[in-house]
Amino acid sequence: MKIAFIGLGNMGAPMAHNLVKAGHEVSVFDLVDAAMKHLESAGARACASAQSAASGAEVVISMLPAGQHVRRLYLGRDDSPGLFDALEGKPLIIDASTISPEDARAVGAGAEQRGLTYLDAPVSGGVGGAQAGTLTFIVGGSEAGFEQARPVLEVMGKNIFHAGEVGAGQVAKICNNMLLGILMSGTAEALALGVKNGLDPAVLSEIMKQSSGGNWALNVYNPWPGVMQGSAASRDYQGGFLTDLMAKDLGLAWELALGCKATVPMGSQARNLFALHAAQGNGGLDFSSIQKLYRAGE
Ligand code: NAD
Repeated sequence: MKIAFIGLGNMGAPMAHNLVKAGHEVSVFDLVDAAMKHLESAGARACASAQSAASGAEVVISMLPAGQHVRRLYLGRDDSPGLFDALEGKPLIIDASTISPEDARAVGAGAEQRGLTYLDAPVSGGVGGAQAGTLTFIVGGSEAGFEQARPVLEVMGKNIFHAGEVGAGQVAKICNNMLLGILMSGTAEALALGVKNGLDPAVLSEIMKQSSGGNWALNVYNPWPGVMQGSAASRDYQGGFLTDLMAKDLGLAWELALGCKATVPMGSQARNLFALHAAQGNGGLDFSSIQKLYRAGE
């Protein structure tokens, strides 16, 4: 299949790489030239613009930081047209970024006006899942679009869910990440308390993993440096899922809650913790670096 992939960051690069490995003809574009080099050497075609990458594509996939980037890519701005207006054919559009359901619906409406099928398909599973091709895709959009996308998504993911209409994928993803933010800050809090009371963080982690405190953040993404080989914590919190992106997702959860008058006291607490941590200069570190917040003064 001819696939255009736009946005080759921590997640997009390994996802696009898996599509190349599966034998698809992949054209890539990222605003940062260096991000395309690795994909080019793997066999992808590096392009000078999103429009050039999408030319002749049957499927367009985007993996961008936030809603404003996705809106700008597809819908454009006053001074520059978006990709929807530049497309020649009618490729299936899959946006895998985590953005607000409102932004997803606005882009979906733009696609519909031009006779295009749009799916919001945010992912879970982190950089490790993107590299291994074991991501979870949470898809919003029509049943027909979902079935059309499935074979492509199965190259990059293991669990493919259809959550509902356009925007529903984002709602489910935002609920998941609110819970993840709560679990990661709670895990960091428990580890710091144990260590301050003389425990070895690796021993405490093993005890909690085998006890009722076990959870994804503790079990597969341990935030204490050196406890888990290969974790972001064990490489100075470089790469992975940035604090800035977690703060964004918790902000999306907050907006979602405001819109339907839901109470999210734990999610609000987590949002404040990650926003504070980002404001202290840690936005570019992996989100498990929230551990540092609990170690201040050590
Ligand atoms: P990232 O910041 O590492 O990568 C984003 C890439 O998009 C960058 O290379 C940037 O140059 C590029 N970009 C931005 N605007 C562009 C444009 N207009 N055209 C082309 N390229 C553009 O982010 P990431 O960690 O890869 O995350 C991407 C999305 O996936 C985010 O919405 C994030 O919330 C979500 N997500 C991330 C993870 C994770 O573990 N990192 C997990 C699940 C979901």
